[in-house]
Amino acid sequence: MTVQKGRSPFDRLKQKFDQSDLRCRACGYVDVEGGWRVTTTGSRVRYQHVCPKCNAIETKEVRLE
Ligand SMILES: [Zn+2]
Repeated sequence: MTVQKGRSPFDRLKQKFDQSDLRCRACGYVDVEGGWRVTTTGSRVRYQHVCPKCNAIETKEVRLE
């Protein structure tokens, strides 16, 4: 078993979002091929996902501690 050291909260959050929640709230399409586009603004991380089916934009914002 590999011990994963040095992973930032940023990486863990990204992984968490990559693995779940890619279902479009507007049309229900699950974008398994897609992922979150990640931008950071200071102590916050913003995740954005655009549904390839209906172009609905999902945005999440997470504050880093
Ligand atoms: Zn959609």
